[in-house]
Amino acid sequence: MTQFTLHDAPLRPAEERASVLSDLGFGAQFSDRMAVADWTAADGWHDRRIVAYGPFELDPAAAVFHYAQEAFEGLKAYAHADGSIWRFRADVNAERFRRSCRRLGLPELSAADFLASVDELVAAERDWVPTGAEQSLYLRPFMFARSPILAVKPSTSVTYAVIASPSGAYFGGSGVAPVDIWFTRDYSRAAPGGTGFAKCGGNYAASMVAQQEAEANGCSQVGFVDAVEHRFVEELGGMNLFAVTSDGTVVTPELTDTILEGVTRSAVLQLARDAGLSVEERRLELTELVDGIDSGLFTEVFACGTAAIITPVGTLKDADGAHVVGDGRPGATTLALRQRLTDIQYGLAEDTHGWMHRI
Ligand code: PMP
Repeated sequence: MTQFTLHDAPLRPAEERASVLSDLGFGAQFSDRMAVADWTAADGWHDRRIVAYGPFELDPAAAVFHYAQEAFEGLKAYAHADGSIWRFRADVNAERFRRSCRRLGLPELSAADFLASVDELVAAERDWVPTGAEQSLYLRPFMFARSPILAVKPSTSVTYAVIASPSGAYFGGSGVAPVDIWFTRDYSRAAPGGTGFAKCGGNYAASMVAQQEAEANGCSQVGFVDAVEHRFVEELGGMNLFAVTSDGTVVTPELTDTILEGVTRSAVLQLARDAGLSVEERRLELTELVDGIDSGLFTEVFACGTAAIITPVGTLKDADGAHVVGDGRPGATTLALRQRLTDIQYGLAEDTHGWMHRI
């Protein structure tokens, strides 16, 4: 039974779609349709629909423009060799979205509605799921406040939508080329009691200037330390961070309310355990990481996220200098975890944890 009513929409012809799919970056192309639902305090969720991709009409006073009352998610649908389409751990995204919305004073969307919006949109847009190596249909569910009122209070009218973006590697290239990361001392991402654990636009707005600083220092991602002591590694602008010791222990910062709990992060921890590696979720001082890279204690560092999958870090930089990780090339543990994860996602290895769901 469908929950989102499929409306007629103008669809681009096959040749145009093929041309779009032949040249994919990340998040720059969009499919023909989107899923939408509206909520009001009076009526709850209603008008679940799949309609032509296109602009929203919003009052200039809509709360999202002024107070950033919005939350979002990011997940992917993968094409397998037999033509079937699968999603990865979307139930975990649905739960995180509920936590984010709760923190932002937005209404909660049930996991059933979240999953239906994703499944029914992907089913309608299955021709937009790219089939090239490491390509996927990136899905972006989001919810925003649209009440036209400048008083600072939770909106009584919101819209939820899902758009779909056929995508290739986040950093371009093959996806395994190492990236350099910059640890900022000038900017914090999230404070205790704030919104760091939520996936909300405000966190990313606050990270833009730090990302600019990273790029000015020749790096493609910014890293943040905690906002209280400015000592402990938290995460990157859009990814979680891992380090691997020379004896094969996989270390990542423990979860706090200032870190986004990545769906990839918990999968990587599970895959590391499956591979017999020891796993440590703990506080990790930036100086411990940097000194360990220099001494050879930490031989690998990698970033992970839905978009980034698992991306090796070649050099970690901060105001004190540059620290080349290992020999600067992707490490064996990083590559093995990456292979295992993508094999599961693309249907090339057994899905022992039940993470994949056929759409
Ligand atoms: N941290 C931040 C700040 C992110 O934006 C992301 C991407 N969603 C992640 C971590 C990784 O999360 P996930 O594995 O769920 O994509």
